[in-house]
Amino acid sequence: TETLNRHVETVQPSATLAVSARAKSLSSQGHDIVSLSAGEPDFGTPQPIVDAAHQALRDGFTHYTPNAGIPALREAVAAKLQRDGIDVQAQNVLCSNGAKQSVAQAVLAVCGPGDEVLIPAPYWVSYPEMARLAGATPVPVATRVADGYTMTPEALRAAITDQSRVLLFNSPSNPTGAVYSPELVRELADVIREHPNLLVVSDEIYAQVVFDAQHLSMASLPGMLERTMTINGFSKAYAMTGWRLGYAAGPLWWADAMATIQSQITSGPSSISQKAGVAALEMDSAPLDKMVGAFRQRRDAFLARLDAIDGVQCPKPEGAFYLFPDVSAYYGTTTASGATISGSADLCLYLLEEHGVALVPGVAFGDDNGVRISYAAGMDDLMKAADRIEGGLGALR
Ligand code: PLP
Repeated sequence: TETLNRHVETVQPSATLAVSARAKSLSSQGHDIVSLSAGEPDFGTPQPIVDAAHQALRDGFTHYTPNAGIPALREAVAAKLQRDGIDVQAQNVLCSNGAKQSVAQAVLAVCGPGDEVLIPAPYWVSYPEMARLAGATPVPVATRVADGYTMTPEALRAAITDQSRVLLFNSPSNPTGAVYSPELVRELADVIREHPNLLVVSDEIYAQVVFDAQHLSMASLPGMLERTMTINGFSKAYAMTGWRLGYAAGPLWWADAMATIQSQITSGPSSISQKAGVAALEMDSAPLDKMVGAFRQRRDAFLARLDAIDGVQCPKPEGAFYLFPDVSAYYGTTTASGATISGSADLCLYLLEEHGVALVPGVAFGDDNGVRISYAAGMDDLMKAADRIEGGLGALR
Protein backbone atom coordinates (compact mmCIF):
# COMPACT_ATOMS: atom_id res chain seq x y z
CA THR A 1 0.00 0.00 0.00
CA GLU A 2 2.73 2.51 0.92
CA THR A 3 4.04 2.97 -2.60
CA LEU A 4 4.55 6.50 -3.87
CA ASN A 5 4.41 7.89 -7.36
CA ARG A 6 7.94 7.18 -8.60
CA HIS A 7 8.40 10.81 -9.69
CA VAL A 8 7.52 11.96 -6.16
CA GLU A 9 9.79 9.48 -4.35
CA THR A 10 12.92 11.24 -5.61
CA VAL A 11 11.78 14.76 -4.68
CA GLN A 12 13.58 16.40 -1.75
CA PRO A 13 11.91 18.69 0.82
CA SER A 14 13.08 22.34 0.70
CA ALA A 15 16.46 22.67 2.48
CA THR A 16 16.10 26.40 3.01
CA LEU A 17 12.89 25.89 4.95
CA ALA A 18 14.62 23.19 7.05
CA VAL A 19 17.39 25.57 8.20
CA SER A 20 14.89 28.31 9.05
CA ALA A 21 12.92 25.76 11.07
CA ARG A 22 16.00 24.66 13.09
CA ALA A 23 16.98 28.30 13.70
CA LYS A 24 13.44 29.07 14.90
CA SER A 25 13.41 26.07 17.20
CA LEU A 26 16.75 27.09 18.79
CA SER A 27 15.45 30.66 19.21
CA SER A 28 12.28 29.43 20.86
CA GLN A 29 14.41 27.45 23.32
CA GLY A 30 15.98 30.77 24.34
CA HIS A 31 19.19 30.66 22.27
CA ASP A 32 20.38 33.94 20.74
CA ILE A 33 20.28 33.17 17.00
CA VAL A 34 20.74 35.57 14.09
CA SER A 35 19.05 34.04 11.08
CA LEU A 36 20.26 35.04 7.63
CA SER A 37 18.41 32.19 5.96
CA ALA A 38 15.25 34.04 4.88
CA GLY A 39 14.18 34.20 1.26
CA GLU A 40 11.93 37.21 1.71
CA PRO A 41 12.28 40.99 2.10
CA ASP A 42 12.16 42.20 5.71
CA PHE A 43 9.94 45.13 4.63
CA GLY A 44 6.19 45.52 4.95
CA THR A 45 3.90 45.47 1.91
CA PRO A 46 3.53 49.10 0.67
CA GLN A 47 0.36 50.86 1.84
CA PRO A 48 -1.34 51.44 -1.57
CA ILE A 49 -1.30 47.66 -2.09
CA VAL A 50 -2.77 46.97 1.35
CA ASP A 51 -5.43 49.65 0.74
CA ALA A 52 -6.44 48.02 -2.55
CA ALA A 53 -6.93 44.71 -0.75
CA HIS A 54 -9.12 46.37 1.90
CA GLN A 55 -11.15 47.96 -0.86
CA ALA A 56 -11.58 44.60 -2.61
CA LEU A 57 -12.93 43.13 0.63
CA ARG A 58 -15.28 46.05 1.21
CA ASP A 59 -16.52 45.67 -2.37
CA GLY A 60 -17.25 42.00 -1.80
CA PHE A 61 -14.68 41.00 -4.40
CA THR A 62 -14.34 37.64 -2.68
CA HIS A 63 -15.38 35.08 -5.26
CA TYR A 64 -13.63 32.85 -7.79
CA THR A 65 -11.96 34.77 -10.59
CA PRO A 66 -11.25 33.47 -14.10
CA ASN A 67 -8.60 30.75 -13.95
CA ALA A 68 -5.92 32.85 -15.69
CA GLY A 69 -6.61 35.92 -13.56
CA ILE A 70 -8.82 39.03 -13.74
CA PRO A 71 -8.55 41.00 -17.00
CA ALA A 72 -7.29 44.13 -15.21
CA LEU A 73 -4.31 42.23 -13.78
CA ARG A 74 -3.48 40.38 -16.99
CA GLU A 75 -3.58 43.69 -18.85
CA ALA A 76 -1.40 45.46 -16.26
CA VAL A 77 1.13 42.62 -16.41
CA ALA A 78 1.20 42.68 -20.23
CA ALA A 79 1.75 46.47 -20.16
CA LYS A 80 4.62 46.05 -17.69
CA LEU A 81 6.23 43.35 -19.84
CA GLN A 82 5.84 45.49 -22.95
CA ARG A 83 7.76 48.25 -21.16
CA ASP A 84 10.53 45.66 -20.65
CA GLY A 85 10.59 44.93 -24.40
CA ILE A 86 8.56 41.70 -24.23
CA ASP A 87 5.85 41.82 -26.89
CA VAL A 88 2.96 40.01 -25.14
CA GLN A 89 -0.76 40.72 -24.77
CA ALA A 90 -3.09 40.02 -21.85
CA GLN A 91 -4.05 36.65 -23.40
CA ASN A 92 -0.41 35.48 -23.08
CA VAL A 93 -0.43 36.13 -19.31
CA LEU A 94 -1.31 33.45 -16.75
CA CYS A 95 -1.61 34.61 -13.13
CA SER A 96 -0.85 31.99 -10.47
CA ASN A 97 -0.45 31.50 -6.75
CA GLY A 98 3.18 32.64 -6.84
CA ALA A 99 6.11 32.45 -9.24
CA LYS A 100 6.89 29.04 -7.79
CA GLN A 101 3.66 27.63 -9.19
CA SER A 102 4.32 29.43 -12.48
CA VAL A 103 7.77 27.84 -12.91
CA ALA A 104 6.46 24.39 -11.95
CA GLN A 105 3.62 24.62 -14.47
CA ALA A 106 5.95 25.88 -17.19
CA VAL A 107 8.16 22.81 -16.68
CA LEU A 108 5.28 20.35 -16.31
CA ALA A 109 3.68 21.58 -19.53
CA VAL A 110 6.64 20.79 -21.77
CA CYS A 111 8.89 18.24 -20.00
CA GLY A 112 8.51 14.55 -19.38
CA PRO A 113 10.53 11.34 -19.10
CA GLY A 114 13.56 11.41 -21.40
CA ASP A 115 13.80 15.22 -21.37
CA GLU A 116 16.71 17.09 -19.81
CA VAL A 117 16.32 20.37 -17.94
CA LEU A 118 19.47 22.53 -17.92
CA ILE A 119 20.00 24.35 -14.63
CA PRO A 120 22.98 26.68 -14.03
CA ALA A 121 24.42 25.90 -10.57
CA PRO A 122 24.27 27.19 -7.90
CA TYR A 123 20.50 27.08 -8.50
CA TRP A 124 17.30 27.78 -6.63
CA VAL A 125 16.53 24.61 -4.65
CA SER A 126 13.16 24.00 -6.29
CA TYR A 127 14.34 23.79 -9.91
CA PRO A 128 15.73 20.24 -9.96
CA GLU A 129 12.78 18.99 -7.94
CA MET A 130 10.32 20.53 -10.41
CA ALA A 131 12.12 18.75 -13.25
CA ARG A 132 11.88 15.48 -11.30
CA LEU A 133 8.18 15.98 -10.60
CA ALA A 134 7.71 16.17 -14.38
CA GLY A 135 9.64 12.90 -14.73
CA ALA A 136 12.46 14.76 -16.51
CA THR A 137 16.17 14.77 -15.66
CA PRO A 138 17.76 17.86 -14.09
CA VAL A 139 21.20 18.63 -15.59
CA PRO A 140 23.20 21.10 -13.48
CA VAL A 141 25.61 23.34 -15.41
CA ALA A 142 28.46 24.44 -13.14
CA THR A 143 29.48 28.11 -12.92
CA ARG A 144 32.63 29.61 -11.39
CA VAL A 145 33.38 32.19 -8.71
CA ALA A 146 35.73 33.85 -11.23
CA ASP A 147 32.73 34.44 -13.55
CA GLY A 148 30.62 35.81 -10.69
CA TYR A 149 28.58 32.57 -10.85
CA THR A 150 27.26 33.29 -14.35
CA MET A 151 27.06 30.49 -16.91
CA THR A 152 29.31 31.02 -19.93
CA PRO A 153 28.05 30.42 -23.49
CA GLU A 154 30.71 27.68 -23.78
CA ALA A 155 29.42 25.87 -20.68
CA LEU A 156 25.87 26.05 -22.01
CA ARG A 157 26.89 24.76 -25.42
CA ALA A 158 28.77 21.85 -23.85
CA ALA A 159 25.76 20.87 -21.72
CA ILE A 160 23.19 20.81 -24.53
CA THR A 161 22.23 17.37 -25.90
CA ASP A 162 19.46 16.12 -28.19
CA GLN A 163 17.40 15.57 -25.04
CA SER A 164 17.72 19.17 -23.77
CA ARG A 165 14.21 20.59 -23.55
CA VAL A 166 14.31 23.55 -21.16
CA LEU A 167 16.92 25.94 -19.80
CA LEU A 168 15.86 27.21 -16.37
CA PHE A 169 17.36 30.68 -16.39
CA ASN A 170 17.34 32.89 -13.29
CA SER A 171 18.80 36.38 -13.36
CA PRO A 172 19.21 37.96 -10.83
CA SER A 173 19.94 34.63 -9.21
CA ASN A 174 18.89 32.99 -5.99
CA PRO A 175 21.26 31.97 -4.31
CA THR A 176 24.15 34.03 -5.73
CA GLY A 177 22.62 37.43 -6.58
CA ALA A 178 24.40 37.20 -9.95
CA VAL A 179 22.95 39.40 -12.71
CA TYR A 180 23.73 38.37 -16.27
CA SER A 181 24.93 41.36 -18.32
CA PRO A 182 22.88 42.25 -21.44
CA GLU A 183 25.86 41.16 -23.53
CA LEU A 184 26.00 37.75 -21.86
CA VAL A 185 22.23 37.24 -22.21
CA ARG A 186 22.60 37.95 -25.95
CA GLU A 187 25.46 35.45 -26.24
CA LEU A 188 23.45 32.76 -24.46
CA ALA A 189 20.46 33.47 -26.75
CA ASP A 190 22.77 32.95 -29.75
CA VAL A 191 23.59 29.46 -28.48
CA ILE A 192 19.94 28.66 -27.66
CA ARG A 193 18.72 29.66 -31.13
CA GLU A 194 20.94 26.95 -32.65
CA HIS A 195 18.71 24.33 -30.98
CA PRO A 196 15.10 24.41 -32.23
CA ASN A 197 13.81 22.02 -29.54
CA LEU A 198 15.26 24.03 -26.62
CA LEU A 199 12.91 26.31 -24.64
CA VAL A 200 13.70 28.81 -21.90
CA VAL A 201 11.93 29.37 -18.60
CA SER A 202 13.22 32.77 -17.49
CA ASP A 203 12.54 33.31 -13.79
CA GLU A 204 12.85 37.08 -13.34
CA ILE A 205 11.39 37.33 -9.83
CA TYR A 206 14.34 39.48 -8.65
CA ALA A 207 14.50 41.66 -11.78
CA GLN A 208 13.38 44.79 -9.94
CA VAL A 209 16.01 44.28 -7.23
CA VAL A 210 19.19 45.27 -9.11
CA PHE A 211 21.97 47.68 -8.14
CA ASP A 212 24.62 48.83 -10.63
CA ALA A 213 23.59 46.47 -13.40
CA GLN A 214 21.01 46.38 -16.14
CA HIS A 215 18.51 43.54 -16.29
CA LEU A 216 17.69 42.32 -19.79
CA SER A 217 14.81 39.89 -20.36
CA MET A 218 15.65 36.88 -22.52
CA ALA A 219 12.24 37.15 -24.25
CA SER A 220 12.99 40.70 -25.43
CA LEU A 221 15.69 39.40 -27.81
CA PRO A 222 14.97 38.60 -31.47
CA GLY A 223 13.66 35.07 -31.99
CA MET A 224 13.38 34.36 -28.26
CA LEU A 225 9.77 35.38 -27.53
CA GLU A 226 8.36 32.27 -29.22
CA ARG A 227 10.45 29.92 -27.07
CA THR A 228 10.62 31.71 -23.71
CA MET A 229 8.23 31.63 -20.78
CA THR A 230 8.90 34.72 -18.66
CA ILE A 231 8.10 34.31 -14.98
CA ASN A 232 7.74 37.03 -12.39
CA GLY A 233 5.71 37.78 -9.30
CA PHE A 234 4.97 40.17 -6.48
CA SER A 235 6.74 38.44 -3.57
CA LYS A 236 10.12 40.12 -3.78
CA ALA A 237 9.70 43.53 -5.48
CA TYR A 238 6.60 44.42 -3.48
CA ALA A 239 7.32 42.44 -0.29
CA MET A 240 4.19 40.35 -0.86
CA THR A 241 5.41 36.82 -0.10
CA GLY A 242 2.29 35.92 1.87
CA TRP A 243 -0.13 37.16 -0.77
CA ARG A 244 0.80 34.32 -3.13
CA LEU A 245 0.68 36.01 -6.49
CA GLY A 246 2.90 35.48 -9.51
CA TYR A 247 2.60 35.18 -13.25
CA ALA A 248 3.93 33.65 -16.43
CA ALA A 249 3.81 35.12 -19.92
CA GLY A 250 4.80 33.52 -23.17
CA PRO A 251 3.66 31.76 -26.35
CA LEU A 252 -0.06 30.91 -26.33
CA TRP A 253 0.36 27.17 -27.00
CA TRP A 254 2.54 26.90 -23.89
CA ALA A 255 0.68 29.36 -21.64
CA ASP A 256 -2.65 27.69 -22.50
CA ALA A 257 -1.30 24.26 -21.48
CA MET A 258 -0.09 25.74 -18.20
CA ALA A 259 -3.56 27.26 -17.69
CA THR A 260 -5.11 23.84 -18.20
CA ILE A 261 -2.83 22.32 -15.53
CA GLN A 262 -3.68 25.19 -13.19
CA SER A 263 -7.42 24.82 -13.82
CA GLN A 264 -7.25 21.23 -12.57
CA ILE A 265 -4.98 21.83 -9.58
CA THR A 266 -5.63 25.23 -7.96
CA SER A 267 -7.75 27.51 -10.20
CA GLY A 268 -6.87 31.22 -10.25
CA PRO A 269 -5.09 33.01 -7.39
CA SER A 270 -6.85 34.86 -4.56
CA SER A 271 -9.26 37.52 -5.83
CA ILE A 272 -8.11 39.95 -3.14
CA SER A 273 -4.42 39.47 -3.98
CA GLN A 274 -5.15 40.09 -7.64
CA LYS A 275 -6.74 43.46 -6.90
CA ALA A 276 -3.71 44.24 -4.74
CA GLY A 277 -1.44 43.16 -7.60
CA VAL A 278 -3.06 45.66 -9.95
CA ALA A 279 -2.39 48.41 -7.39
CA ALA A 280 1.24 47.24 -7.08
CA LEU A 281 1.82 47.57 -10.81
CA GLU A 282 0.15 51.01 -10.90
CA MET A 283 1.99 52.33 -7.84
CA ASP A 284 4.92 54.76 -8.09
CA SER A 285 8.33 53.23 -7.51
CA ALA A 286 9.22 55.05 -4.26
CA PRO A 287 8.78 52.03 -1.91
CA LEU A 288 10.73 49.79 -4.28
CA ASP A 289 13.53 52.36 -4.64
CA LYS A 290 13.76 52.68 -0.86
CA MET A 291 13.99 48.91 -0.41
CA VAL A 292 16.60 48.49 -3.16
CA GLY A 293 18.64 51.35 -1.65
CA ALA A 294 18.62 49.60 1.73
CA PHE A 295 19.64 46.28 0.16
CA ARG A 296 22.52 47.96 -1.63
CA GLN A 297 23.87 49.47 1.61
CA ARG A 298 23.65 46.13 3.37
CA ARG A 299 25.31 44.28 0.51
CA ASP A 300 28.22 46.72 0.57
CA ALA A 301 28.58 46.55 4.34
CA PHE A 302 28.40 42.76 4.52
CA LEU A 303 30.66 42.19 1.55
CA ALA A 304 33.32 44.40 3.16
CA ARG A 305 33.18 42.18 6.24
CA LEU A 306 33.44 38.97 4.19
CA ASP A 307 36.35 40.35 2.15
CA ALA A 308 38.26 40.87 5.39
CA ILE A 309 38.02 37.18 6.35
CA ASP A 310 40.96 35.02 5.28
CA GLY A 311 40.13 32.37 2.69
CA VAL A 312 36.59 33.60 1.94
CA GLN A 313 35.94 34.46 -1.71
CA CYS A 314 32.74 36.25 -2.64
CA PRO A 315 31.91 37.88 -5.97
CA LYS A 316 30.02 41.18 -5.71
CA PRO A 317 26.39 40.40 -6.57
CA GLU A 318 24.43 43.04 -8.48
CA GLY A 319 20.93 41.87 -7.58
CA ALA A 320 18.51 40.06 -5.26
CA PHE A 321 19.46 40.04 -1.55
CA TYR A 322 21.89 37.15 -1.26
CA LEU A 323 25.64 36.63 -1.01
CA PHE A 324 27.19 33.28 -1.85
CA PRO A 325 30.77 33.21 -0.54
CA ASP A 326 33.05 30.28 -1.35
CA VAL A 327 34.16 29.01 2.06
CA SER A 328 35.77 25.77 0.90
CA ALA A 329 39.17 26.91 2.22
CA TYR A 330 37.78 25.89 5.64
CA TYR A 331 36.87 22.34 4.65
CA GLY A 332 39.06 19.72 6.32
CA THR A 333 39.45 21.86 9.47
CA THR A 334 38.41 20.88 13.00
CA THR A 335 36.19 22.66 15.55
CA ALA A 336 37.26 23.36 19.15
CA SER A 337 35.11 20.40 20.22
CA GLY A 338 36.88 18.07 17.78
CA ALA A 339 34.36 17.78 14.93
CA THR A 340 35.60 17.84 11.34
CA ILE A 341 34.13 20.31 8.86
CA SER A 342 33.89 18.36 5.63
CA GLY A 343 31.46 20.52 3.64
CA SER A 344 28.86 23.28 3.65
CA ALA A 345 26.31 21.30 5.68
CA ASP A 346 28.85 20.68 8.51
CA LEU A 347 29.93 24.30 8.42
CA CYS A 348 26.38 25.68 8.62
CA LEU A 349 25.48 23.31 11.42
CA TYR A 350 28.61 24.38 13.34
CA LEU A 351 27.92 28.10 12.80
CA LEU A 352 24.31 27.65 13.89
CA GLU A 353 24.82 25.42 16.92
CA GLU A 354 28.08 26.93 18.26
CA HIS A 355 28.06 30.54 17.04
CA GLY A 356 24.34 31.36 16.76
CA VAL A 357 24.16 32.31 13.09
CA ALA A 358 21.92 30.57 10.55
CA LEU A 359 23.06 30.35 6.90
CA VAL A 360 21.97 27.89 4.23
CA PRO A 361 24.50 25.26 3.08
CA GLY A 362 25.49 25.61 -0.57
CA VAL A 363 25.05 21.88 -1.09
CA ALA A 364 21.28 22.51 -1.15
CA PHE A 365 21.83 24.78 -4.17
CA GLY A 366 24.11 22.34 -5.98
CA ASP A 367 27.41 23.95 -4.93
CA ASP A 368 28.99 22.54 -1.78
CA ASN A 369 31.82 25.12 -1.83
CA GLY A 370 29.55 27.97 -0.78
CA VAL A 371 26.98 29.08 1.77
CA ARG A 372 24.03 31.38 1.13
CA ILE A 373 23.75 34.53 3.22
CA SER A 374 20.48 36.45 2.97
CA TYR A 375 20.87 40.12 3.86
CA ALA A 376 17.14 40.67 4.14
CA ALA A 377 17.73 41.60 7.79
CA GLY A 378 18.42 44.78 9.77
CA MET A 379 21.95 46.25 9.78
CA ASP A 380 22.51 45.49 13.50
CA ASP A 381 21.69 41.83 12.98
CA LEU A 382 23.87 41.74 9.87
CA MET A 383 26.90 43.12 11.71
CA LYS A 384 26.30 40.75 14.61
CA ALA A 385 26.14 37.87 12.13
CA ALA A 386 29.35 39.03 10.44
CA ASP A 387 31.12 39.04 13.84
CA ARG A 388 29.89 35.52 14.50
CA ILE A 389 30.89 34.17 11.10
CA GLU A 390 34.34 35.74 11.46
CA GLY A 391 34.68 34.37 14.99
CA GLY A 392 33.42 30.93 14.03
CA LEU A 393 35.68 30.56 11.01
CA GLY A 394 38.63 31.99 12.96
CA ALA A 395 38.22 29.30 15.64
CA LEU A 396 38.58 26.43 13.15
CA ARG A 397 41.95 24.69 13.07
N1 PLP B 1 11.91 31.92 -8.01
C1 PLP B 1 12.99 32.17 -7.26
C2 PLP B 1 14.33 32.19 -7.88
C3 PLP B 1 12.85 32.40 -5.88
O1 PLP B 1 13.92 32.64 -5.12
C4 PLP B 1 11.56 32.35 -5.30
C5 PLP B 1 11.35 32.53 -3.86
O2 PLP B 1 12.21 32.34 -3.05
C6 PLP B 1 10.47 32.09 -6.14
C7 PLP B 1 10.68 31.88 -7.48
C8 PLP B 1 9.07 31.96 -5.60
O3 PLP B 1 8.36 33.12 -5.59
P1 PLP B 1 6.81 33.14 -5.19
O4 PLP B 1 6.76 33.59 -3.76
O5 PLP B 1 6.22 34.15 -6.12
O6 PLP B 1 6.25 31.79 -5.37
